[in-house]
Amino acid sequence: MTSLQFDVLNPATEDVLSTIELVDAKSVDETVRRSAHAFETWRSVEPSDRARLLRRFAAAVEGDLENLAKLETDNCGHPINDSRSTVRGIVDAMDYYAGAPERIIGQQIPVRGGTAITLHDPIGVVAVIAPWNFPLMIAVWGMMPALAAGNSVILKPSELTPLTTLRLADLAREAGLPDDVVQVVTGTGSVAGQALLDHPGVAKIVFTGSTEVGRKVMTSAATHLKGITLELGGKSANIVFADADLAAAAAAAPMGVFNNAGQDCCARSRLLVQRSVFDDFVKILVPAVKEIVVGSPMHEKTEVGPLISSAHRNRVASFVNDDENILVQGGTPNGPGFWFPPTVLRSDDGTAPSLNMEIFGPVVTIMPFDTEADAIRIANQTDYGLAGSIWTRDIARAMRTARGVRAGNLSVNSNSAVRYPTPFGGMKQSGIGRELGPEAPLEFTEKKSVFISNI
Ligand code: NAD
Repeated sequence: MTSLQFDVLNPATEDVLSTIELVDAKSVDETVRRSAHAFETWRSVEPSDRARLLRRFAAAVEGDLENLAKLETDNCGHPINDSRSTVRGIVDAMDYYAGAPERIIGQQIPVRGGTAITLHDPIGVVAVIAPWNFPLMIAVWGMMPALAAGNSVILKPSELTPLTTLRLADLAREAGLPDDVVQVVTGTGSVAGQALLDHPGVAKIVFTGSTEVGRKVMTSAATHLKGITLELGGKSANIVFADADLAAAAAAAPMGVFNNAGQDCCARSRLLVQRSVFDDFVKILVPAVKEIVVGSPMHEKTEVGPLISSAHRNRVASFVNDDENILVQGGTPNGPGFWFPPTVLRSDDGTAPSLNMEIFGPVVTIMPFDTEADAIRIANQTDYGLAGSIWTRDIARAMRTARGVRAGNLSVNSNSAVRYPTPFGGMKQSGIGRELGPEAPLEFTEKKSVFISNI
């Protein structure tokens, strides 16, 4: 049934961490059947009991914090302190959605001759297909609202980074969730992922990944009339106006893009700085970039780890060539590992190819702008629309700019992007639908109208 195997690597050392099976379509079919069976059990668990089990699941993850953090660091190259924050963050998100089963509330609508109410039925088997950059976080964001609403879930991690997702399913079982309510399929996108898209027993696909594959998900969903959420790529702008706290904006800018070695869909990879303060900003930015600690992800002080694979490093490197002006570049360790230095490119005329493509590595392009209207126009000069930052002390300017920039997640005087209590998602080629926030469980329900006659 399972024909192929795959070596999962540590990107910082290139050591083999584990060997996984790459499952075939037949195996996916069996997983979906088990999931459909588990759905019938899970949907009928009383809301308060479902909530209790989900709280236990959150507690099990919290109890495994150090192990999960180390596993995520070994497999993805995230600095260990970032991985610990990730696990703490997902525990909070799990607790938040553990409260949802008893808060999925319908309506009573005034009608002639009786009473009309709406019910929110769970939809069935939900497949969560995740990329390699933040496997734990993305699995949990898709999975928890779906579980809270009474659905069963199949997680499909990237074959490069399956280890914490597999551990998550173990923890669900240990916490007492019924068998097969949470399952994992390990496999390639073109086989296991595609089999999930094409399976008639999967009711909804929550996909996070590239825009290119997102299009395939949407095409297949149209054929099978499945629900979808698409969280895709980004090319987000970090806009710094002349009236901003320049020291704060420049100090924050490097990790606004170099976090997770730039392998972050919300990375602020275009840095737009108002011309009148451009030189002052650069003077603060350059030493800040040089000071970034790039190194072994297991060292407590490391801020930036390696890229995920050799192939990805080659792709990132292809964007940094002699035609472009390297403003400043940080360092990397020697020896094994898929390292790439934090790099700031300068494009005074705004024509550099690096301004248009999602590089998904530690590369940011800085350019000057003149007016507020210019900043908004340049920020919108991309097919993507995921995130962005606005640095200014003028609240009215901040609001005008936030309204003008076509992106789903904006932050003022910070580079923060995803906060699980608020909706998250992209505009334009960055995606369709929203995850997270208080309404996320409703995205995994079908609204049903019931009329009860007075006679
Ligand atoms: P990818 O699109 O190559 O793969 C994502 C997932 O889809 C993987 O699990 C892969 O195996 C699977 N897949 C690939 N082909 C498939 C197919 N035909 N059918 C079904 N599944 C298939 O993306 P990646 O390289 O793993 O991740 C990087 C991309 O993810 C970047 O573009 C990044 O911006 C994006 N991303 C977006 C968000 C967001 O929330 N918007 C978050 C993280 C990453």
